[in-house]
Amino acid sequence: MTAIKTVNGLVDAGLSDGMGLDAVAAKYAIAITPDVAALIDPSDLDDPMAKQFVPTLAELVTTPEERADPIGDLTHSPVEGIVHRYPDRVLLKAVHVCPVYCRFCFRREMVGPAGLGTLTGPELDAAVGYIADHPEIWEVILTGGDPLVLSPRRLAEIMARLAGIEHVKIVRFHTRVPVVEPERVDDGMVAALRSSGKTTYLAVHANHPREFTEAARGALARLADGGVVLVSQSVLLKGVNDDIETLAGLMKAFVENRVKPYYLHHPDLAPGTSHFRVSIEDGQALVTALRGRISGLARPTYVLDIPGGYGKADIGAASISGGDGCFTVRDWQGGAHRYPPE
Ligand SMILES: *Cc1c(COP(=O)(O)O)cnc(C)c1O
Ligand code: SF4
Repeated sequence: MTAIKTVNGLVDAGLSDGMGLDAVAAKYAIAITPDVAALIDPSDLDDPMAKQFVPTLAELVTTPEERADPIGDLTHSPVEGIVHRYPDRVLLKAVHVCPVYCRFCFRREMVGPAGLGTLTGPELDAAVGYIADHPEIWEVILTGGDPLVLSPRRLAEIMARLAGIEHVKIVRFHTRVPVVEPERVDDGMVAALRSSGKTTYLAVHANHPREFTEAARGALARLADGGVVLVSQSVLLKGVNDDIETLAGLMKAFVENRVKPYYLHHPDLAPGTSHFRVSIEDGQALVTALRGRISGLARPTYVLDIPGGYGKADIGAASISGGDGCFTVRDWQGGAHRYPPE
């Protein structure tokens, strides 16, 4: 089986009636891997897996606050393929292809066959040169697109270039591959990911407990056993994971698979995604409710990427207020306590 990439493919697979979707397909790439297609229940109109991956007419609605570059990547890109927003770390975007195209993607205008493409040899040279020339860069974050669509050989080539840069201590990958195409994560891939010799982190993107299939669990185990440190990344999405049961189940599934919950992203203002947006108040209430409900090991930081390229901000509800040495602290059940106590 190969991935579904066209409206006809969706119809043939029984995942959509295809009505009006040519207009959506003309704007935003479609891809659903066999692993993901197998998780979709076509008889359930509210299926959280379908919502994430099967295009709908709702994507044709663009609201005034939405923008093509919602988190301002382009405002901090000194050379092609590099985003340098914080002093100590850069994004290295070698590819703009993904194994699946998420309908809520924050980089949807940049990824896919009509997107920014793959760095050429000279562009990669310039990107690596930029990292080498900036001794303040401690961490290189490979994202895209999805860096794990590259072959182990190509990844190892990039890692060999980073290996030679003394001031880079951490290499981090952001990827959906372990969940949506787990068979790609074989021993060769794990070896390639670690071949820089740097400390290697991998942020796994998953949004629903159902994504943790037997095969996905196997891929995560190979990564963890292979010495890759795993953290999570999820997007809070209306109709997918914006209820406490699902969100708690998702975070627990990460922890059970040796993935430390890291970020829960408030959805970005990407075009045609308003149907996924929850309010920040609802997000804060959900994250606060997690505190009493699941282990501290399973709690992510709720973040917003500030539009315009200003970076991420923690947006969980404050549990402390006051000042001048006198504070009110809220416990997980909402009770208020003075600190220091009277
Ligand atoms: C999100 C992001 C990072 C990584 O931020 P962390 O808080 O370290 O995970 C780095 N650079 C850019 C441009 C980002 O958008
Ligand atoms: S895998 Fe990431 S970059 Fe690719 S479509 Fe999904 S959200 Fe966008």
